[in-house]
Amino acid sequence: MSVLITGGAGFIGSHLVDHLLAETDSQIVILDTFSTGRASNLAHLSTDRLETINGDVRDGSLVTDLVGDADAVYHLAAAVGVENIIDNPLNSMQTNLQGTENVLEAAATDTTPTFIASSSEVYGKSEDVPFAERDDRVYGPTASPRWGYATTKAADEFLALGFHAERNLPVVIGRYFNIVGPRQTGQYGMVIPTFVEQALAGEDLTIYGDGTQTRSFTHVEDAVSITHDLLTTTEAHGEVFNIGAPGPTSINDLAKRVIELTGSESGITHIPFAEAYDEDFEEPDEREPDVSKLRDTLGRVPTADLDRILQDVIEERTSEVSA
Ligand code: UDP
Repeated sequence: MSVLITGGAGFIGSHLVDHLLAETDSQIVILDTFSTGRASNLAHLSTDRLETINGDVRDGSLVTDLVGDADAVYHLAAAVGVENIIDNPLNSMQTNLQGTENVLEAAATDTTPTFIASSSEVYGKSEDVPFAERDDRVYGPTASPRWGYATTKAADEFLALGFHAERNLPVVIGRYFNIVGPRQTGQYGMVIPTFVEQALAGEDLTIYGDGTQTRSFTHVEDAVSITHDLLTTTEAHGEVFNIGAPGPTSINDLAKRVIELTGSESGITHIPFAEAYDEDFEEPDEREPDVSKLRDTLGRVPTADLDRILQDVIEERTSEVSA
């Protein structure tokens, strides 16, 4: 069996590579531009079961060839990170829209089982927590670039559902909720690597807004194992699933816990959103997945264990500093 992972050098993608190498005997091909993905995410692997292609999901003929050789596809390549989306809006839109259409079109030829990575951003600024898959989406104006990402991911979902309905594509859509863990970079504004790096450097942790906003942090190892199980479960095909741990944490509590677990002397500084991002910036206040559908389908859900996540990230960053 041969598996294609687009975005396989990325944070989630590289953990999916680890998982599939350990749990299956598949040959794995990854397609990545190595822009937000990094070769170092795969550097710990030396195996002839892994092939790496440096290329872009917007390259239709390359995608057609690679998908044509695959027995299953995980499409994780996307423009990611709030700051990245704001700084590169056009590139982000095109990567997320053209890339997904290329993958789906190619997969439809042989009805190759395909996983499409979506995001909890799809729910937008809905206040109706916890979010269930059939809940309404609430977005701000197009002048606020954040909603562009949510819109592309929602469009990807519509495309995938269309390919399922009209071309019988066995496709599963997973909405990832704040997936975190080792190898995630703070470079694009993600909060846990940023706080851990600040705490280890003895700098103040920078909380945006008043810090009462919540997120449901999910360990990347749980996320990739659920991703694999969903694609191999026929009942899940043609369906959308939240992939996240129930149990939200406020950003204030997160900052305190990072300081406690690192034993850091760092303080905390609150920064207004307008200063952290820009004037038009809006962000969801609370975010929590309803995991009933996932539980009903797989019989299990990710565990909410913030300490396990933080300990893994702190251990990784500490060993990098001392290496
Ligand atoms: N955040 C913060 N300080 C930082 C980075 C992020 O307070 O240095 C906040 C951010 O405003 C959001 C939460 O942490 O409320 C999670 O941010 P992240 O970018 O990790 O994920 P998001 O949920 O925004 O996609």
